Amino acid sequence: MSSSERKPERQCMGCREHKTKDGLLRVARLPDGRVLLDTRGKSGGRGMYVCPDAVCLRRIRKNRAPERCLKTRIPEDVYAELDALCAAV
Ligand SMILES: [Zn+2]
Repeated sequence: MSSSERKPERQCMGCREHKTKDGLLRVARLPDGRVLLDTRGKSGGRGMYVCPDAVCLRRIRKNRAPERCLKTRIPEDVYAELDALCAAV
């Protein structure tokens, strides 16, 4: 990967740091209202980003960022998926 390549940055809703998209997990809310972990970054709809980090994950569960960003709550099964990805990092 070329370091001279400029990539758009996104903000983690847990720690508020800006990182490139591939350093973050995207949670998407689809137009039909479903919320899912968007592993490819290709799902449409509204999205929010969080670091693959247990600390950031805990923060977004507490700070209601999903409610603000996605206008809905993240279901427990999606949190479970996020947890699994954090553990894998
Ligand atoms: Zn973070």
